[in-house]
Parts: sequence; structure tokens; C-alpha cells
Amino acid sequence: MVAFRGNSVSEQILDLLVVGGGSGGLACAQRAAQYGAKAALIEYQRLGGTCVNVGCVPKKVMWNAAQIAEALEDAHHYGFDVGGTGHDWLALKGKRDGYVARLNAIYERNLAAKGIEYVAGRGRFLDAGTVEAAGRRFAARHIVIATGGRPAVPDLPGADAGITSDGFFALEQRPRRVAIVGSGYVACELASSFRGLGAEVELFVRKDRPLTHFDEMLGSALQREMTARGITVHTHVTPSAVHRQFENRTLVASDGREFGGYDCLLWAIGRTPNIADLGLERAGVEIDADGYVLTDTFQDTSVAGIHAIGDVTGRVGLTPVAIAAGRRLSDRLFGGMPERRLDYECIASVVFTHPPIGSVGLSEAQARARHGDAVKVYRTDFVGMYHALTERKPRTDMKLVCVGAEERVVGCHIIGAGADEMLQGFAVAIRMSATKRDFDDTVAIHPTSAEELVTMR
Ligand SMILES: Cc1cc2nc3c(=O)[nH]c(=O)nc-3n(C[C@H](O)[C@H](O)[C@H](O)COP(=O)(O)OP(=O)(O)OC[C@H]3O[C@@H](n4cnc5c(N)ncnc54)[C@H](O)[C@@H]3O)c2cc1C
Repeated sequence: MVAFRGNSVSEQILDLLVVGGGSGGLACAQRAAQYGAKAALIEYQRLGGTCVNVGCVPKKVMWNAAQIAEALEDAHHYGFDVGGTGHDWLALKGKRDGYVARLNAIYERNLAAKGIEYVAGRGRFLDAGTVEAAGRRFAARHIVIATGGRPAVPDLPGADAGITSDGFFALEQRPRRVAIVGSGYVACELASSFRGLGAEVELFVRKDRPLTHFDEMLGSALQREMTARGITVHTHVTPSAVHRQFENRTLVASDGREFGGYDCLLWAIGRTPNIADLGLERAGVEIDADGYVLTDTFQDTSVAGIHAIGDVTGRVGLTPVAIAAGRRLSDRLFGGMPERRLDYECIASVVFTHPPIGSVGLSEAQARARHGDAVKVYRTDFVGMYHALTERKPRTDMKLVCVGAEERVVGCHIIGAGADEMLQGFAVAIRMSATKRDFDDTVAIHPTSAEELVTMR
């Protein structure tokens, strides 16, 4: 810890001050404390941030519930006599909220155990070295902006008749008929869980399919599977207004089409960085045109001693990415690893739809744009063995994107049961520059869907 700097604070100068107690901020502060740094963390909502409170964790609980609904549907094809398959949404919400509250408490205990001061308040910069929160001033040698983001709501007449993903987790009963606007992974995941738990669901996307940021096969196959499960996917719809009459919402498209009869409308059109009231201008921290904090490859902002990690930087918006960036930053600042930084290439991700999607590396289109004719693609699709006995016949689609004479695997894309758990190991192999030959030389595990990835022709 460095010496007292008496101009603006009445406290000692910290080694590290983190603004934001979400995935990235908590990881950064805890790693710094392990190196003996004197750290404090400011958070004005519940500890754990988006992931724990209104993101990955409660979302996965809902996904699990919808998985169980599918299993119940399939059960009698396996000889079970299953009755009484109604669902109590409020009971599930209660258990989910209880789990999240336990996680909140664990985070608080972990901070205390590591000697990190937890400041419950909203942080704002007074200058480049000082942040004010909870009526106190904190000065630090290093300040980390880890304030994340929040769901965007479009600037349209009547838009406030809709909820966002935050509102999804507050719902106390299942809506009867839901319109979801958006084509990204959050829109698809919430559509899928709503449907699995019995709602009528319509998804509105601006282009020709959902998940346009992923390999084309994934969005097309997801649309096929959603349609098979009774989700209506409306393509080429740009919303222009929402009309609300009592509990009935109508979505108006820019071409005049109207879609009505929804007791719930959910915007899932992207996220906005949390920078309002942060006082970035007083510190001189530069942001980009969309409000994301500009950082270099070491997570440094335009101001010496101020760093930023996670969703507020507008890079890959995933929890493990924010955690990895935060830990590596502390390794560099306090752990004697001057070159330590996060490599943002080749990060695997899963979309928790039904069936789930796993994707790592380049899409076919990205690979062709980079490597032209040197790209070779292997594809397969099939109905998994589990569904040989069931009435539902969801298909599994897989694609390997390879490059060069040695056929280095640069992309792996899967939609199908088990894709979520299948991908992590393949992500390691791809990161280690595995070739198609390495895949082929790996003896298959039978009978699984994953074995198709090492037997593709
Ligand atoms: C519905 C949904 C599902 C998701 N599912 C997944 C998933 O399955 N897997 C995955 O990897 N990612 C998922 N994500 C993304 C993941 O939640 C984020 O990438 C991750 O939480 C980002 O971490 P962060 O630390 O950057 O920000 P956050 O977790 O958002 O934390 C930022 C924190 O800063 C606080 N804060 C903001 N301003 C201030 C201030 N001025 N002073 C003090 N505190 C402040 C906020 O209250 C918040 O707690 C999902 C997101 C959503 C919305």
C-alpha cells in the first residue's frame, strides 16, 4: 500500500478500487487481494452482478425447468406412466430466488474473508484518482471500471409496455402469450424457456433468421427446431410502436403490419453499458460512440491507472470473459506478470435453447473471408439415439470448419442435445491447434452424439 495522499481524501490510498461487484469486478478484486493488495469494491445493487442476479444463473434454472418439461413429455415413450405434469411458476421462482440470495451472501462472505472492503453504494469519479461512494471518498493507485451493462429498450412509442430480461426474472406467473423482440442469444433462450414451460411464443427478428452473429447453420437449424416446438418466428420485422389496451399488447412493424394479443412483450435487443453518472468525463476516460469504455489489449483505458473489464468494454459479453480479464489484470498489476492479458480469440460459448447450441472459433463465413479457398467444411445432421423412441424428433447439426492443407480446425458449431456440455473439451483441442486428422485419430465414445465430431467424412 502506498502512502497517504492528503489532497482529496481522508483515508489511506488503496492499491485497487473496483467499481462494480459483478463477475469481472469480484474476480479482479479477489485475485488482487490474494497477492496482498489492499483492495475495496463498490457495488450499489446485489453482489454478483448480471450473471448471478438477472443473467446466467437464473436463466439456467429456467432452462433446466424447460428441459424437465421435455423429459416429462418424452417419458411415456420410454414406458413411464407420468401424470400431473402441471407447473407452478411461482414456486420455481421462489426456489430460484432463494438460490440467488444464497449466492449473494457467499460473495459477501468471500470478500470479507479476503480482506476486501465492500462498499455498498454507487461509485462516481471525482477525478482520475478518486471515486466517491456512500458519502466517502476513495483514492487508489489502480481503479477498475467493471460496471457492466443493462438491457436496452428501444426509443419507440409505447415501448414501456414491454419488459426486458430483468423483467423476465421478476415475473410471478407465466404469461399466456409472449412476443419477444430480438434475435440474439438472450431473445432465443428466453423464447425457448417460455415455450418449454407452456407459453405461446412468437419471436420477432429483423433479418432472415435468429442468431445472425453465429455460423449460419446454427441460426437456420434453431429456427427449424423452434418452429417444430411451436414457436412462431417472424422474420424481417422492424418494430415501430407498441399499443397497449389493458393486458393486450400489439406490436406495430415499420411496414404497417400489426401483431397483437400478447399479455407479455419482451425486448431483447441488446445491452447498454453502465456509464451514466459514473463521472467518466471528470476522470478523462474515453468512451466509444456506443458508450463503451475504450481499452487496449491490457484492459488499460485512456487514463493511466484506470482500467476497465467486462461488459462495459463492449468486448465478448460473457461471464467467464469478464472473470478472465479481471484476474489477468490483477496478475499483471499485483502478481509480477507484466505481459499477462486476455486473448479474446477463440472463446467458446453456449446458447441455452432447446436444443442447446455450442460454438467456438470462426464461422464458415468468417473463415472464408479470412482464408478463401483454403477452407474446407465438414457437416453432418442426424436424429440422436434418445429420440429413436420419442415422438419428438429434433435433429442435431454439426459443422467443423478447417483451414489449409493440414486442415487445422478453426471452428466447431453444434446444435443438438448435449451440445452445451460437449463443447468445452473440443474448445481446448481447437485452442491447441488440433487438425481434422487429430479429430479422426481420436477413438469415438459410443453411443453418443459427440462421436459424430470425430467420425465426420
Ligand atoms: C439474460 C442473460 C443471460 C446471460 N447468460 C449468460 C450465460 O449463460 N453465460 C455467460 O457467460 N454470460 C451470460 N450472460 C452475460 C453475463 O451476465 C455478463 O457478460 C457478465 O455478467 C458481465 O460481467 P461484468 O462484471 O462485466 O458486469 P455485471 O455482471 O453486469 O456487473 C456489473 C456490476 O456493476 C454494478 N454497477 C454499475 N454501475 C455502478 C456504479 N456506478 N457503482 C457501483 N456499482 C455499479 C452493477 O450493479 C453490477 O452489479 C447473460 C446475460 C443476460 C442479460
